[in-house]
Amino acid sequence: MIIGSHVSFKSDQLLGSVKEALSYGANAFMFYTGAPQNTLRKEIDESLTKEAQTLMEYNGIDIKNVICHAPYIINLANRSSEEKWQFSIEFLKKELSRCDALGISYLVLHPGSSVGLPEEEAIQNIIDALNETLKNNYHCMILLETMAKKGTEIGSLEELKTIMDQVKYPLGVCLDTCHVSDAGYSLTDFNAFLEEFDNTIGLDYLHCIHLNDSKNPCGARKDRHENIGYGTIGFKTLETICYHPKLKDIPKILETPYVGESLEDKKRIYPPYYYEIKMLKEREFDKELLKHIHEKYKTL
Ligand code: FE
Ligand code: FE
Ligand code: ZN
Repeated sequence: MIIGSHVSFKSDQLLGSVKEALSYGANAFMFYTGAPQNTLRKEIDESLTKEAQTLMEYNGIDIKNVICHAPYIINLANRSSEEKWQFSIEFLKKELSRCDALGISYLVLHPGSSVGLPEEEAIQNIIDALNETLKNNYHCMILLETMAKKGTEIGSLEELKTIMDQVKYPLGVCLDTCHVSDAGYSLTDFNAFLEEFDNTIGLDYLHCIHLNDSKNPCGARKDRHENIGYGTIGFKTLETICYHPKLKDIPKILETPYVGESLEDKKRIYPPYYYEIKMLKEREFDKELLKHIHEKYKTL
C-alpha cells in the first residue's frame, strides 16, 4: 500500500517534507511549494533537494509517489481580468519548473470555478489556459482534481473528461474521495464507482488519490474533509480503496483535518496522520483515534 499525507514545505524545503512524512510512517506524501492560499514562492535549493532525494532513497520512498499541489487561489476558469488569467498561467509554468527541479512527476490542480460565467465558457478558459501553459515541455504532469461541486466549482468526472479531450498535451487525474462523494457519486459500491470512472475518464489517467472521509452526506457539495472512519464515507469503503488491486500502484494521500482534544477544539491541534496511516495498515478502525493523537502530542 502506498500511503501518506499532506505535509509542510518550509525553509528546509523537500528535506523537511520527507522527514515529516517519515514521522507518520508514510511512503508517499504531498506538499505545496509555499502557502496554498498565495503565490509567493522561494527558489528551489539544489543541495536541500539532493539531501531529500538521498533520504527518500534510503527509506524506500519512490519519487513518483511524491505529489505537489498547486495553490488553490489559481483559477484558470476566470478570464474576467486578462491580466490575472495570464498571471495564473505564468505561475503554473513556474510551478511546473519548480516540480521539475525537485524531480516531482505530478502536480495536482483544481480546475477552477466559473464564478458567474456560463459553465461552457469557464471550461473553455481552462482548456485555453492549459494549452498555453503546457506549450513548454515539462517532465511533471498536471493532475486535474475531482471537485466537490461546491459553489461554482468545475470538476465532475464528465467535466474533467471534456477538458482532457481538448487539451493537446498529456494530463492526468487526482481522485478525491470526499470531493466525489460530495459531488454526488456514491462510493458505497466502490467497484461500480470505479467502473463509472473507467468508462468516463479511464483508469490509466488516475495517478493520485486524496483519501478523505467527508463530514457531509453524498451530494452535499460542501467539501469538508473528515478523519478516516469518522465521516459519511466510512472506514470500510476507505480501506477497500486502499487495498483495491486496480489501485495498488497509486499513492493515497490523506488531507484529513488536524484535531484537538475534541474534534471541534481548534486551539491546540495535532496531525492525525500517524494514527490514520497505522489503522489503514492494520486494517482496523481506531475508535480512540483522538485519545491516541492527544497522548502522542500533549507533551509537546
Ligand atoms: Fe485539492
Ligand atoms: Fe483533495
Ligand atoms: Zn477538499
